[in-house]
Amino acid sequence: MNVAPLNDDLRTLYQEVILDHAKHPRNARLVERHTCKAQGNNPMCGDRVTVTAQVSDDGRLRDVGFEGKGCAISIASASMMTEALNGQTIAAARRLFDAVHDLCTGKIDADAAKAKIPEAAESVDKLASLSGVRQFPVRVKCATLPWHALMSCLDGKGQTTTTEK
Ligand code: ZN
Repeated sequence: MNVAPLNDDLRTLYQEVILDHAKHPRNARLVERHTCKAQGNNPMCGDRVTVTAQVSDDGRLRDVGFEGKGCAISIASASMMTEALNGQTIAAARRLFDAVHDLCTGKIDADAAKAKIPEAAESVDKLASLSGVRQFPVRVKCATLPWHALMSCLDGKGQTTTTEK
């Protein structure tokens, strides 16, 4: 699928969203009663995040937090991720991971991502801010790092390193 280049207005909007989350990260804390925990490491940039989450018996993410150090993109992505996931099912979280991955690598645009996950359309709108990284392949790993850590968390693995393109 061809994805059109971002126009300047959209690019500016996306940068504002990312800077806001990078400066004022949401849920930047350890979830005390977490049911899973995983660390992610991006050696290309030096980003490190630890994701903790509380998953309820009915398979919903009740609380998600992160602690980490890294570039603005990785912190903003982690912050947006924690907001997007609250109350979502594990299945929806996995679909969001796929959507973010496809947005960041330029496989799909925001509308296509929303169509895939209608129950989280509002979150996808915000997460689309990350799609600006598709012009900077090195940054894709920064943006997807917290999401890889989340998947490790949900899969019961303790660690992940972003090595894909
Ligand atoms: Zn980074």
